Amino acid sequence: MTENGSLICPVCGHSLMRTDKQFQCESNHQFDVAKQGYVNLLQPQHKKSKQPGDSPEMVEARYRFLDEGYYEPISDKLNELILKNLLSKHKTNSSYKVTDAGSGEGYYTQRLERCLNTTTRSETHLNKVECLEFIGFDISQRAVKASCRRSKSIQWVTATSSHIPVASNSQDAVLSLFSRIVPDEFSRILKQDGILYVASTGPNHLVELRKKLYQDVKQIAYNPTSTLSEQFTPLEQNLSSNIRYNIIIESNQAIHDLLLMTPHYWRATESAKQSLQTLSSLTVTIDIMLTGYRLCPQ
Ligand SMILES: [Zn+2]
Repeated sequence: MTENGSLICPVCGHSLMRTDKQFQCESNHQFDVAKQGYVNLLQPQHKKSKQPGDSPEMVEARYRFLDEGYYEPISDKLNELILKNLLSKHKTNSSYKVTDAGSGEGYYTQRLERCLNTTTRSETHLNKVECLEFIGFDISQRAVKASCRRSKSIQWVTATSSHIPVASNSQDAVLSLFSRIVPDEFSRILKQDGILYVASTGPNHLVELRKKLYQDVKQIAYNPTSTLSEQFTPLEQNLSSNIRYNIIIESNQAIHDLLLMTPHYWRATESAKQSLQTLSSLTVTIDIMLTGYRLCPQ
């Protein structure tokens, strides 16, 4: 048996202990670690379909597109904000624990893990941060499998945001990046002084792509604050960020990959999607809100 992480048994809620090839709780519920390194903690009754989440094509499209670096500024900003939080706590805490809720194919989780690990190892004043724990979970087993290719030092898990297999009051940071927001579960797993970061799309996000697909382009921004307001308050402005820049996508494959990453793939008509097939280059606006929250005092 090795040290206890934050994972809990999805059946009984007790802590899970890791052995070489298994996770096990004190009631003897056992979960095998897959050969890729992830563990499936999704209970059959919490699945809505046999293979919930993304199709293989969508997972690979997102993997390829993100690897091109188009969204790197979003990842860099997130890393900067989380690092700021870690630095503010390191004098009193020897551990820092992060859960990425809906981690997809692991792009942001992996870059954050590398950033925090590199910084805490290289700066001597941070030598008190002895334990960094990273959990990334997603309902899509295909996406979780793909994320195992990115990093072996993150515990990848198949699970759903409505039943997060992570101990109560255990996390310093929870991330919800373009994925489902479940305020009750996020507030349960966060420490009282923990932070939540939510990435959501602003009104001009991918507006050029949308203009190619729809005759009538509406300016819609999703503001997560209203969903969270009962339990969370937004952090001060300098701890949140609006991220806006343009990218030039210079291959038809990458344009198609981007389309597959978005809900427009399902919403747009076939003929509209076909009009993209001849494009070899597209400049699009990236418009993202990265908002930090803390728990309301109890
Ligand atoms: Zn159990």
